[in-house]
Amino acid sequence: MSNNKFKVLIVEDEANISSFVEMLLTTNDYQALVAHTCTMGLTMFASHNPDLVILDLGLPDRDGLELVRTVRQKYMTPIIVLSARTDERDKIEALDLGANDYITKPFGTGELLARVRAALRLNRYQNAAGGAPGGEFRAQGMRINYDRRKVYIDEQEIRLTQTEYNIVAFLSQHAGRVMTYAAIVRAIWGDTDVGSTKKLQVNMANIRKKMGSRPGSNAYILNELGVGYRMVEEEAEKQPPKTAE
Ligand code: CA
Repeated sequence: MSNNKFKVLIVEDEANISSFVEMLLTTNDYQALVAHTCTMGLTMFASHNPDLVILDLGLPDRDGLELVRTVRQKYMTPIIVLSARTDERDKIEALDLGANDYITKPFGTGELLARVRAALRLNRYQNAAGGAPGGEFRAQGMRINYDRRKVYIDEQEIRLTQTEYNIVAFLSQHAGRVMTYAAIVRAIWGDTDVGSTKKLQVNMANIRKKMGSRPGSNAYILNELGVGYRMVEEEAEKQPPKTAE
């Protein structure tokens, strides 16, 4: 057994779900730990220092949001919220408190593994001192060249405005994870402009039109209704090895 597997803490009271997630992670070469209450989750977080937390919001002792709040006081460990709740406000509240992503039950195995990969990639980009990464991003037929600030679909250049490019590049740096409207607006226009979701939607409509995203065709940027946008994951071979820090 290799010792450098990613360690994932699952906090979930429903035994059938926690054992399903545990088995899925274990068979995909992650190390999985399970807690069935919020209190137990916090204890195990402190003693095991996991690389990622998968957290159910509806726990028997306390609301799972309590764990997000407590962990975020000290740690940047990625947290994926797992919830049966479909209310956008719950998702946004969890994201605002510092959760990195959410997944709504019921979910498929491919979907969960994609979210896990995307959340673990987060650390790589955070280490890049906030600057745009160099090199390229590839997903399906899309290619982004960060050095030239150009986007290609099937090797045809897509002519984007500077703002449109900035939005696409930002989403690609967080590919696979949902970015809230507020987070995108803050990243592109700064803190003073947080209210202008409308401006974002206009730009996004133009981006999607230029990229040829129509229903039934390849969608590079997914609209998470009422919450934000999510870019499709980068190609799988780009999954980084775990590095000691
Ligand atoms: Ca539950």
